[in-house]
Amino acid sequence: MQEDLGNVSAKDHKKLILYILDSTALIAGQTDFSRKEFATTPSVLSEVMHDESVKNVVEVAVDCGQLEVSNPSEDNIREVERIAASTGDRIKLSRTDIDVLALALEKSKAGIDVVIISDDYSIQNLARRMGIKTVGIIHPGIRKQITWVAYCPVCRSEYGVSNLNVCTRCGVELKRRPAKL
Ligand SMILES: [Zn+2]
Repeated sequence: MQEDLGNVSAKDHKKLILYILDSTALIAGQTDFSRKEFATTPSVLSEVMHDESVKNVVEVAVDCGQLEVSNPSEDNIREVERIAASTGDRIKLSRTDIDVLALALEKSKAGIDVVIISDDYSIQNLARRMGIKTVGIIHPGIRKQITWVAYCPVCRSEYGVSNLNVCTRCGVELKRRPAKL
């Protein structure tokens, strides 16, 4: 497989980079499955498979072995939760976010060079704390307009499309996820 990454110097021997995808990355179509290796978690897929076009792309990629779907171990999930609690990010992270971070941590411990593709600030923040690289979603290539709906990660109140930043029931900072179509 040809990997051509500009910032890797030619004298380094080629090392595989594994891209870990969150829901925002899959919905935005940040996935040239023919050129790169990807991984994600079952919880991410459960958030995006309602979209037919995403579902088709994902199924083909899994069949071709370009997208690995796996659950991180409980140990790595607990480790991410511990780090998140210490940085104050715990409350901002959904269960799916934690899975994504734990999978990245697990692969990284296995010696794999990992990059998380995500537009979620809390994921980016915590990944940085764990020494894991992230890239945001590059918008010119965007395949689909995303509508973001707000929800409370603690009491699970749903706010739909809203400018609110804080849950009116429990005062916690709201998270946003792509709306189901
Ligand atoms: Zn709430």
